[in-house]
Amino acid sequence: MNNHPIAPDALGSDGVPGPDGAPGPEHDHRRLGRALGLFDTDPLIGSGLPYWLPDGAEIRHTLEEYVRDRERRAGYRHVYSPVLGKRELYEISGHWQHYRDDMFPPMDLGAEQVVLRPSLCPHHALIYRSRPRSHRDLPLRIAEIGGMYRSELSGVLGGLTRVRAIQLNDAHVFCTPEQAAGEAVAALGLIAEAHRALGIRPVRHRLSLPGEGGKYVADPALWERATALLTEVLSRSGVPFEAVAGEAAFYGPKIDVQIADAAGRESTLSTVQIDFHQPERFGLHYIGPDGAKHRPVMVHRSVIGSVERVVAHLIELHGGAFPAWLAPTQLVLLPLTEGERARAERLRERCLDLGLRAEITGPERGSLGARIREARLVPYQAVLGPREAADDLLALRLRGGRRLRALPAPEALSRIRALVGACAQELWDEPEHASEECEG
Ligand SMILES: [Zn+2]
Repeated sequence: MNNHPIAPDALGSDGVPGPDGAPGPEHDHRRLGRALGLFDTDPLIGSGLPYWLPDGAEIRHTLEEYVRDRERRAGYRHVYSPVLGKRELYEISGHWQHYRDDMFPPMDLGAEQVVLRPSLCPHHALIYRSRPRSHRDLPLRIAEIGGMYRSELSGVLGGLTRVRAIQLNDAHVFCTPEQAAGEAVAALGLIAEAHRALGIRPVRHRLSLPGEGGKYVADPALWERATALLTEVLSRSGVPFEAVAGEAAFYGPKIDVQIADAAGRESTLSTVQIDFHQPERFGLHYIGPDGAKHRPVMVHRSVIGSVERVVAHLIELHGGAFPAWLAPTQLVLLPLTEGERARAERLRERCLDLGLRAEITGPERGSLGARIREARLVPYQAVLGPREAADDLLALRLRGGRRLRALPAPEALSRIRALVGACAQELWDEPEHASEECEG
């Protein structure tokens, strides 16, 4: 849990979102993220380069593991690739010609120039190209949560939403043209599942098409083909969408899953793209059943977008009251007196063995009432008194104040473990029981 005292005004009146779940202005992620000890910045590191504090890192780690787990189940294989690449790599991909304004200047290293990468796609295209590929290897799904960089001006930077160093949940599916729509539909399914687990409700699906101006690669047939496929993907997925000109990637159209902040400002969280351009640029191929070389299609997709943007959105959406599976501290143990300290330590160990994040807030931190208030964003709270200790019971109090009847500690912990493991949105899975009297 966070051990930073939270200024009373930093969390709004009760520190939890309104009944409709809508974020209010008091949930500005920049203010709340610092108040909760999730992330911060330092002028000496630079603007747009936030660092993650332990509680924020806990959330990020949990999110990344969630995504990797879902990707593994969906047949993706994970790779690591470097955040630097030679300038020539981006000349081939087209980033140098179409995206250079957003890239950091190249670094001179003897006779060559290297750049901080503006995207992961070229590295993954080279990973595909590094081995001979047959139609039997396809679809080949390569995933990575990796760093990329954007040279934003200082004036527009703030919090986690406009940053210069981005950790992107990215993946590229290399497949036959016939497989592309199915892969994109499956990616939209992964996105919808992740949004449900996170409590995120997108405001719309956008089919992002090219607009006026020269930043798009010129190949009308390519654009038509990719747009037709993405339209098919959206209709097969049954999601309503709006087509918007001027929002495509330079190499192709995309499906953008849009979210909105408290002020109604939209941004893109998750994307799915069908790309015929980069396989051409990198000369990718596979050997078909006919023994001849064929060009694969690249489906680019991101389930949760960048970890910075998704965490900013989650902070604003939940006002710091994260779903239990994501909360930095899932259970806080509150020994009534020093006499219950040893039991609290043992319970904490049991939680760690079960993969649960538990912390102890002892009497040295103030009265029980004050400690319960301090822990009000923690999903599960347990006051440990002499009575519960004698029978190894756990009297849980849920975030929001509901008290449950005391349960044998192993049962209480394994039920929490099951809810957390299922990424449940609710904190408990039975109708309300008669509350027992409880202190605080
Ligand atoms: Zn990509």
